[in-house]
Amino acid sequence: MVLQEPSFRESVDLMFNRAAAIMDLPPGLEEKIRVCNATYTVRFGVRLRGQIHTFTGYRSVHSEHMEPVKGGIRYAMAVNQDEVEALAALMTYKCALVEAPFGGSKGGLCIDPRQYEEHELEMITRRFAYELAKRDLINPSQNVPAPDMGTGEREMAWIADQYARMNTTDINARACVTGKPLNAGGIAGRVEATGRGVQFALREFFRDPRDVEKAGLTGGLEGKRVIVQGLGNVGYHAAKFLAQQDGVRITGIIERDGALFDEGGLDVEAVHHWIARHGGVSGFPDATHTAEGAAVLEHDCDILIPAALEGVINLANAHRIQAPLIIEAANGPVTAGADEILRDKGTVIIPDMYANAGGVTVSYFEWVKNLSHIRFGRMQRRQEEARHQLVVEQLETLSDALGKTWSPSPDFKEKYLRGADELELVRSGLDDTMRTAYQSMREVWHDRADVQDLRTAAYIVSIGKVAASYRAKGL
Ligand code: GLU
Repeated sequence: MVLQEPSFRESVDLMFNRAAAIMDLPPGLEEKIRVCNATYTVRFGVRLRGQIHTFTGYRSVHSEHMEPVKGGIRYAMAVNQDEVEALAALMTYKCALVEAPFGGSKGGLCIDPRQYEEHELEMITRRFAYELAKRDLINPSQNVPAPDMGTGEREMAWIADQYARMNTTDINARACVTGKPLNAGGIAGRVEATGRGVQFALREFFRDPRDVEKAGLTGGLEGKRVIVQGLGNVGYHAAKFLAQQDGVRITGIIERDGALFDEGGLDVEAVHHWIARHGGVSGFPDATHTAEGAAVLEHDCDILIPAALEGVINLANAHRIQAPLIIEAANGPVTAGADEILRDKGTVIIPDMYANAGGVTVSYFEWVKNLSHIRFGRMQRRQEEARHQLVVEQLETLSDALGKTWSPSPDFKEKYLRGADELELVRSGLDDTMRTAYQSMREVWHDRADVQDLRTAAYIVSIGKVAASYRAKGL
């Protein structure tokens, strides 16, 4: 039997429609919000290795209810218009949900970055950036890209520099792209941000016993068995932080060349090093390896974290997924059909538009930093330390006057006296954002009898916010 899956974009639209159907939107607004405003396709040539190579790239703008529009640029062979449009739509909903003041956009280039030398990738990236910038599809006030699959800090630095060369008098040039290295206008904590956001999301989920019970689980995060698919930037940071700081056991790691599992818990750092050196998980000595990576998605565990590609949980395997809780660290890992099957089974899914919003949240902080031309904490840090010092001195004087010895715990002074640096402030802002956004979904999930799942709740919150901004504009 051939299983008929909708395309990625149709899948996103189906999920959108489920929520919009139970909302009270003015006539016509539902369609206005759902449709993708525009997609630009560019084909350009770059002379490499003695011949001209032609590349195809896209930048899609889903919604401009707020500007600039925001979203990553992906480098992968599978990039196509449908995918870029689906991802741009998810950016609109994601930004609305976490209250990052942006519309939604996404870009992609059909390329396998592993096939090129660094200097070749630089030429290709600069040319792509040139094509986008000259149409304001890279611009601090119009459209601000960021990293996605296959791109990172290095590509963002090239893009920022290319934009600056083309706009020599733009004082805000650095704000044209986020995810830059720290020394090129980036912000502390951006690389870890999406994985860190997944950790904060799970912590918030486990704070409410009603939510934990809906997933058929008990207790807190400690000791939970977790399977992660994809140990790229997002999967690696999520797995590492959850294992190191929340006491979860990473029992499975799925990669391109198979999967590793160990019920006792895998050493995430060691596996990450192994992948960096050997290009895959095969041969890793301290775990059981299977070449059938996808089958490990179906293994028994408490939490499944798909952190790689879209559509990995689909009509073909959804029935066999055993995890009672799935957190979508990737964009679109569960198809609309699989979503329905899992919902019927009672599987709880923390949806992508929320779960992986940590990246764009910290991108927002970076953009604000670039526009304000000052690092977070630079004005307050020492003043905060001086005020805390006063309190400590007063406590010491008081205890002397009372004839007592004040003996706080050994690291109290060090912790209390130290003013927050940029990284601490970024993590605090991210934690607050992830908690607040989750709480807004939770409220809808628990309070509305016609909402059975977190994804519908997330769409209701975010569509409501986009609709409100249209209303405010008088549309
Ligand atoms: N590519 C990331 C995402 O899908 C980050 C986007 C951004 O920071 O603008 O959310």
